[in-house]
Amino acid sequence: MYDYDLLVVGSANADLVIGVERRPAAGETVLGSDLVVHPGGKGANQAVAAARLSARTALLARVGDDAYGRLLLDTQREAGVDNAGVLVGGAPTGIALITVDPSGDNSIVVSPGANGRLTPQDVRDAAGLLRASRVVSTQLEIPLETVVEIVRNLPSGTRFVLNPSPPMPLPAEVLAACDPLIVNEHEARVIAGCELEGSPEDWATALLACGPRSVVVTLGERGALVATGASDDAPGVLTRVPSVKVDAVDTTGAGDAFTAALAWRLGTGATLPEAAAYAARVGAAAVTRPGAQESYPTAEEVAAL
Ligand code: ADP
Repeated sequence: MYDYDLLVVGSANADLVIGVERRPAAGETVLGSDLVVHPGGKGANQAVAAARLSARTALLARVGDDAYGRLLLDTQREAGVDNAGVLVGGAPTGIALITVDPSGDNSIVVSPGANGRLTPQDVRDAAGLLRASRVVSTQLEIPLETVVEIVRNLPSGTRFVLNPSPPMPLPAEVLAACDPLIVNEHEARVIAGCELEGSPEDWATALLACGPRSVVVTLGERGALVATGASDDAPGVLTRVPSVKVDAVDTTGAGDAFTAALAWRLGTGATLPEAAAYAARVGAAAVTRPGAQESYPTAEEVAAL
């Protein structure tokens, strides 16, 4: 009945990385290594992560009519993502300019570019894509008004998953649609709008009170925590999802892989704790290799973990 297991609506960036001995001070010029370009952006990361797991995945995003936009379209296609919903033009492709020093500390400048031009009208124009998708997943590297429009145009029966990154206070109608809202500790604080006290169980309970139907708190190497809200026929439940012990090499993009895997599994009929347990295995596999999209596992690799 659905053409896509997962529709990701979100950002696509080119990450331009230069290694430096020392990050430059104001007014200073330093020489660095050869440039390395990585495909990135939370939307593009999620789409690649899901497609690599064999989910039928589509991406709704905007890139510039430039070389980086073409690179991102190619990477999505090679990963198996249907990129027919990726709009081209209106602004240059989103770019992250990254300098990294030998200790691994970095300085990053992001130009949202075309990501900032993914408009509510673009969402309305993609009504067919929304109807064809079992689950819709998004993040906050696109305009908030565009995320609001997704929620308003969600077909009944389509599940909505949000990772509010970068975090910002959210309107009640967006929170009410999240099933689940997926946050790390930092995002949890911003969304709750206060210092979170006590254990992750306490944070999850505080977040549920903000209105989402369910909450997943990711805890890095400590796994994750799932909180479902009370409904007419079931009480609220907190479930710990254990982490998978691995030698972590690079945690970049682990949260995106986790979100994509969880969203896809929900669409296949898994319960939220089952989907989160699978996503924890995907996140763990992703941290065993460097990079973001380059590190994402296939379903066979997850099974072998
Ligand atoms: P974010 O990247 O958004 O901060 P986390 O760091 O919490 O998100 O990672 C997302 C998920 O990836 C975690 O919930 C966990 O399942 C998995 N993960 C992350 N880091 C590790 C690690 N060092 N070892 C095992 N699993 C990890």
